[in-house]
Amino acid sequence: MENELIDRYGRKLDYLRLSVTDRCNFRCYYCMPEEGMDFVQRKALLTYEELDYLTGIFVKLGVTKIRITGGEPFVRKGIMDFFTKLRQHQDLREITLTSNGSISEDQIQQLKHLGIKKINISLDALDKQRFFEITRRDKFDEVFHCILTLLKQGFYVKLNCVVDGNKNIADIIPFVQLTADYPLAVRFLEEMPFNGTGKFEIPEWNHLALYDYIASHFPEIQKIQDGKNSTSVNYQIPGYQGTFGIIPAFSRTFCGTCNRIRLSATGELRTCLYGPPVTNLRDILRAGANKESIMTEIRNAVVKKEKDGFKAEELNSKTPKKSMSFLGG
Ligand code: SAM
Ligand code: SF4
Repeated sequence: MENELIDRYGRKLDYLRLSVTDRCNFRCYYCMPEEGMDFVQRKALLTYEELDYLTGIFVKLGVTKIRITGGEPFVRKGIMDFFTKLRQHQDLREITLTSNGSISEDQIQQLKHLGIKKINISLDALDKQRFFEITRRDKFDEVFHCILTLLKQGFYVKLNCVVDGNKNIADIIPFVQLTADYPLAVRFLEEMPFNGTGKFEIPEWNHLALYDYIASHFPEIQKIQDGKNSTSVNYQIPGYQGTFGIIPAFSRTFCGTCNRIRLSATGELRTCLYGPPVTNLRDILRAGANKESIMTEIRNAVVKKEKDGFKAEELNSKTPKKSMSFLGG
């Protein structure tokens, strides 16, 4: 079909994850080193005009959902105006975003006004000291306040929690308990090898270990229905307001229903987080390509999407893995 992005395994890619910056005000250990991050120069970043133009092309190609991510989207100046611009794409059914919780009350009001309803916030610990050790920033109170404000304002909030056997196992049960009183969807993620240091150990706390651990504390655990292209396997404790899910981000058991495509803040297009960039849309755009040739470039990239994250990783095995803040998580 002319206006759809379908890969050779029949998967329809209609969900774009768009990174607006590689910069961040936090330094989560699983995402970047504490010091010495080599952030890209401003002129290497896609401008908001370019991001908007490329979004329009993706929408023409059948993308109906977009997630703004980074780095931390709210450290880039002018982000609220960009959201306003995005709202003008009529066929974009859903705009969502992922943030570390650095969203001001004023920005929350504006997001509400723009009709943005779903927000993912990263939070890996409910204990202040552990939060500090993980993010290397003393910002727990601010982040938690942001989450409560979002809930109060009627946003549908998911919390992303990267699990590490050496860091935050003591937070897992409190996170599940948090769903008793708040209508949150907590998602526990396996750690992935994108910390920008080149060092990585296969997570012992994988999705199976996580499930067993939670189920041993909550024997009444109930499976609930997962969304169509959900990466999380979801559960609920009967009587609790919220839900929780487990994302096999490293085990990669969900690739068969993957509907995602990613554009980094510098224009790198990836059809899999684990794979190399397939092309650079910034370079093509700045070289003067017209809409039709950019569309052809995207279609050609999509056709070649690998079967799963393991196959994609094979193509990338010689290159050191980048920080997630650069890839756009
Ligand atoms: N700064 C925002 C935030 O933290 O939510 C958005 C960008 S961040 C790169 C997007 C998501 O990627 C976050 O939920 C974060 O926890 C996750 N992430 C980053 N590095 C990861 C890693 N090595 N393994 C698993 N998840 C990771
Ligand atoms: Fe920043 Fe998000 Fe990476 Fe943490 S995970 S360092 S908040 S980009």
